[in-house]
Amino acid sequence: MKKIGILGSTGSIGTQTLSIVRKNRDLQVIALAAGSNVQKLEEQIREFSPGIAVLWEKKAAQELRVRVADTDTKVCSGMEGLLEIAVMEEIEVLVTAVVGMIGIKPTIAAIEAGKTIALANKETLVTAGHLIMPLAAQKKVSILPVDSEHSAIFQSMRGENRERISKILLTASGGPFRGKRREDLKGVTVEDALNHPNWSMGRKITVDSATLVNKGLEVIEAKWLFGVAPEKIQVVVHPQSIIHSMVEYVDGGIMAQLGMPDMKLPIQYALFYPDRRPMEGKRVDFHTLSSLTFESPDTETFQGLAMAYEALREGGSMPTVYNAANEKAVALFLDRKIKFLEIYDLIAGAMEQHKTVCNPSVEEILEAEAATYEYIAHRRD
Ligand code: NDP
Ligand code: MG
Repeated sequence: MKKIGILGSTGSIGTQTLSIVRKNRDLQVIALAAGSNVQKLEEQIREFSPGIAVLWEKKAAQELRVRVADTDTKVCSGMEGLLEIAVMEEIEVLVTAVVGMIGIKPTIAAIEAGKTIALANKETLVTAGHLIMPLAAQKKVSILPVDSEHSAIFQSMRGENRERISKILLTASGGPFRGKRREDLKGVTVEDALNHPNWSMGRKITVDSATLVNKGLEVIEAKWLFGVAPEKIQVVVHPQSIIHSMVEYVDGGIMAQLGMPDMKLPIQYALFYPDRRPMEGKRVDFHTLSSLTFESPDTETFQGLAMAYEALREGGSMPTVYNAANEKAVALFLDRKIKFLEIYDLIAGAMEQHKTVCNPSVEEILEAEAATYEYIAHRRD
């Protein structure tokens, strides 16, 4: 029996993780956590009987506590609750699938407690990679990527000497606006941005795919996960999303991982690594697949990617500002308070006014986040 905890169990990654649990009876759910979705977490508690469930919001947790009073599940709230899950003795693998920087502290606590991390929450490495990776190495803890690209890179490195990598080729679908120019993007709506051609994901990350900020976050994440220099990470647009990423080695050989675009594969791979379990689903059919195509990203139109490289080169607290400004800007866009292209303006403005803190502590990272939120709220007044 492999015992797991899921932070963010009601979200896109969280629910897909639970669908893998349904098919693999040797996985046992010990803990579940979400933000405020009482209804869904109650259903999950009744189906999976975790020992503990956490809702971030106190009032929601209180309501949940009343609703599941007839079960054996203990209900907690807030960061305290997330940290309690992170260090639970029984848990072997912690799936970190919350959205946002809320993931940093629980991830650090889980690494300190020696848990294997199945990492979906990209904000954690983007903002605190310089703290997380050395800590994981020191505690001999594996950080197994859940993001499809990073899982593909990880799979393409199995059995290889990492010193012999010449380049990481990070693929991008290009999102719903691929091929459009800046001019075309002026009037795009929330619905247009949420209409992703290949992947079904949470709302925030779907908008991030449309701006290419998601790819920017993934470049930063890849730098930390695989310890490669930014100039060795090349983004390649591959609209069919069949090749999930590739690694080029010093002899020119390229290893790639291919498959249908389905997040369940990388999630399951992380849960059972180093094993590879059977999984149902559509297969790539090379007889009917007419073409796999590639292009370079249009970084002039989709400035989100160029800004990520800039944040990465600057380092320190700058990736936090890039991420936090984007988070707020996307929320404003989803609330229809700003236009699509203003997302870039807000990120650029926030980065411009920020004074980088080198090698920031968790507290300094959270301060940079708060200051960025304030900057954006202020700019909007
Ligand atoms: P969703 O928005 O679908 O889900 C987010 C989850 O986090 C929900 O369970 C939500 O609970 C929970 N949550 C939000 N705030 C808090 C909080 N303060 N405390 C505890 N839980 C909270 O996001 P996704 O599943 O799409 O993405 C999760 C992470 O994985 C992100 O970092 C994303 O970038 C990354 N990722 C996602 C991929 C995907 O395919 N979806 C692919 C690769 C990476 P509630 O429902 O109650 O709000
Ligand atoms: Mg991805």
